[in-house]
Amino acid sequence: MPRESQRPSDDRILLSQATVGDLEEEFVLDALRSGWVAPLGPHVDAFEAEMGARCGASYALALTSGTAALHLALDGLGAGPGTVVIVPTLTFAATANAVAYTGATPVFVDARSEDGNLDPVALDEALTTLTAEGADIAAVIPVDLLGRVCDYDALGAVLDRHDPGIPLLADAAEAVGARLRGRPAGSFGRAAALSFNGNKIMTTSGGGMLVSDDRDLIERARYLSTQARQPVPWYEHTEIGYNYRLSNLLAALGRAQLRRLDDLIARRRAIRERYAAGLTDLPGVRILGRESGRGDEEDNCWLTAIVLDGEDSGPEVSADDVVAALNAENIEARHLWKPMHLQPAFAGARGFLTGAAERLFDRSVTLPSGAGLSDADIERVVVALRRALGR
Ligand SMILES: *Cc1c(COP(=O)(O)O)cnc(C)c1O
Repeated sequence: MPRESQRPSDDRILLSQATVGDLEEEFVLDALRSGWVAPLGPHVDAFEAEMGARCGASYALALTSGTAALHLALDGLGAGPGTVVIVPTLTFAATANAVAYTGATPVFVDARSEDGNLDPVALDEALTTLTAEGADIAAVIPVDLLGRVCDYDALGAVLDRHDPGIPLLADAAEAVGARLRGRPAGSFGRAAALSFNGNKIMTTSGGGMLVSDDRDLIERARYLSTQARQPVPWYEHTEIGYNYRLSNLLAALGRAQLRRLDDLIARRRAIRERYAAGLTDLPGVRILGRESGRGDEEDNCWLTAIVLDGEDSGPEVSADDVVAALNAENIEARHLWKPMHLQPAFAGARGFLTGAAERLFDRSVTLPSGAGLSDADIERVVVALRRALGR
């Protein structure tokens, strides 16, 4: 039986709760009973092999978080003081924080309004300006927002026009299991960061992975992730390292979740279909990403977000109003990521902005999307949502 952890009260509907069951229990027990409680062990190696295969990547490195994966990848790509890294403004702070850890300067670029992913036109403009200034651009980090893979062909074409040497580092933290034209998330760019945080589509309670076909990049990250130990019989360090390796216990949990990933995606997709059906007659309400010509059959449907941005969305109801109304009915709904250029932590950072991310932030609400939610739960959300929208 699947069971859900940390459910605060029986009738509260949460945004994105993990579900674990007998398979997870079996794998974690195996890790405990095998004696491999100490950090590394066979589940880590197997998890890397299985996840790498799923992402179509030759090499994989299991880490304590997706943020750690971004940090080590950026380090390996040469991000550091005096360099610039291009980050979408519409993302979770971890993407930009990882840039800050290296000492590089994040430059924020706006989103496409149809799906919230990095806008190739704004990227083009940013690259034109930055290269004219002679900036040293260490990387561009497209983010596969809410589980929808960016159009890497379009982004790659923009880079090729300016400097094909600038690497793409994919932040696929939200997109584990998603695809683009048949190719898996995690297979695009020089390397990709995955997250197995507790609210993501599959979880190790906390964890992440760096995947790549670049053996040197992964091996260097592997060395840095275990405190940069030299291969000698004592603790010898010629560089500053990090304590970023995933433990064997958590890798065991990840392996069980990976076996269930297709089911977890199928359920989240069915939830999205239910929202779409329940809201289809409401003018001016759309589901983020759904109408961009690609449909959502390749998305992992991690979170479903509605956007209230039609000409005819009727009486002005803001995302704030909707979030408050749903929360008042014991339904956890949230705003979309607040753009990085509006965050006090990044005040003064440079941006190539069109207003699209700000508008999406103002007009979007992310809805409960966890695989453990029942059809009745989703129906309750739809009814509450229609009430909040005055329909
Ligand atoms: C969750 C997330 C991360 C960070 O992952 P953690 O495992 O929580 O460190 C990075 N980027 C994006 C876009 C995310 O949603």
